[in-house]
Amino acid sequence: MAHDPRILISGASIAGPTLAYWLVRNGFRPTVVERSPALRPGGNGVDIRGSSVRIAERMGVLPALRERATDIRELTFVDAADRRVAGMSTRIFNADGDIEIMRGDLAQVLYEATADDVEFTFGDSIAAITQRPDAVEVTFDSGEQAEFDLVIGADGLHSRTRNLAVTPEADALHHLGVYFATARVDAGLGRPHAVTLYNTPGKVAGVYRSGAHDGATAFFAFREARVLDVDHRDENAQKALLSTYFDDRAWQVPALLEQATADDGFYFDAVSQVRLPAWSSGRVALVGDAGYCATLLSGAGAALAIEGAHLLATELAAAGGDHRIAFHRYEQALRPTVLRAQRSVRTSSSMLIPATGGHIWLRNQLTRLMVLQTLASRVYRPVAVRAA
Ligand SMILES: Cc1cc2nc3c(=O)[nH]c(=O)nc-3n(C[C@H](O)[C@H](O)[C@H](O)COP(=O)(O)OP(=O)(O)OC[C@H]3O[C@@H](n4cnc5c(N)ncnc54)[C@H](O)[C@@H]3O)c2cc1C
Repeated sequence: MAHDPRILISGASIAGPTLAYWLVRNGFRPTVVERSPALRPGGNGVDIRGSSVRIAERMGVLPALRERATDIRELTFVDAADRRVAGMSTRIFNADGDIEIMRGDLAQVLYEATADDVEFTFGDSIAAITQRPDAVEVTFDSGEQAEFDLVIGADGLHSRTRNLAVTPEADALHHLGVYFATARVDAGLGRPHAVTLYNTPGKVAGVYRSGAHDGATAFFAFREARVLDVDHRDENAQKALLSTYFDDRAWQVPALLEQATADDGFYFDAVSQVRLPAWSSGRVALVGDAGYCATLLSGAGAALAIEGAHLLATELAAAGGDHRIAFHRYEQALRPTVLRAQRSVRTSSSMLIPATGGHIWLRNQLTRLMVLQTLASRVYRPVAVRAA
């Protein structure tokens, strides 16, 4: 490989900026292209745990992350009259030193740690990739063309990089039978320091309200085994769909829906895992959700993105830029952790979105016993890769 390899990263959320940071630290020259016109806000709290805490520390961002950390103390299950019927302390999910932070805040902190050393282009996307033995030719939506030594897809669940160069989306995504939406709402709709959840069979609506933040986020999830015919970029169709699934007007669902569907940070998607036979093809590799999404039900997406990005940069440096060796070692080291996280989701979906009225009742009874709390703590324990 040429000296000072040129590396294109697609996607500027969690995996992209982290990878850019560590590539610069290891002497590479990355540039980042992000499809959105600016960093995308939105999302609920995500967890930094295990090795990702140590990686964040070495990036010097730990104080900023702690400053913006959320302050959630309980999962509170309520009935239609907003009475608390069960609850679980968040302490059982977290180890000392773990950080929960709003996804948008995490992306902002990681971007700020990287932006001085790396060129970011917003509002553009890879349109075509042609691999040659010695380089990758890339054409962008803007019409520009450029050549890189390597291209890394950090462009999330619907990664275009993956689709163009590694595996078609239809073969990559495995629908878990759940759809999820989230958006910002007034803090007054939630209980401070709590994630409030209202269940009906196969559905949950809720509010995530940190004590340390002004606003709150609403979230909705529903079980639907079919793959619905809704474009992941057609927000109006998604909002209409969500409203048809939550038309029962119980609890504060109408108010949450009204505010959520008016928010420009509205996010909706199928809960799908990315399972690939290989995370790279030639000079193109994938990191974060693009390569191995475990879904929000795993509680591990952000940590796996940070750990994977750090590992990929480290292996590229260790292999002297030889991508064949580096991509192989990166995948070998991370795959077992990803598989564990991907397997963990079944228990958490039964707990958060019980399928029947009987299951809701049972879940509420079990939360009063230590047994479910212990089970849940196992599911959500940190997925640590290896010492950073
Ligand atoms: C708006 C939003 C809200 C989310 N909310 C939650 C949540 O509430 N809970 C949770 O657990 N997880 C949530 N996630 C997912 C979570 O961020 C990831 O699971 C995890 O952090 C791994 O991050 P990632 O960087 O690999 O992927 P992502 O965070 O999905 O980021 C992918 C990035 O790539 C960009 N991108 C997409 N396509 C292209 C393209 N063609 N060209 C260039 N850039 C592209 C996207 O705009 C985005 O910035 C959310 C993601 C987003 C984008």
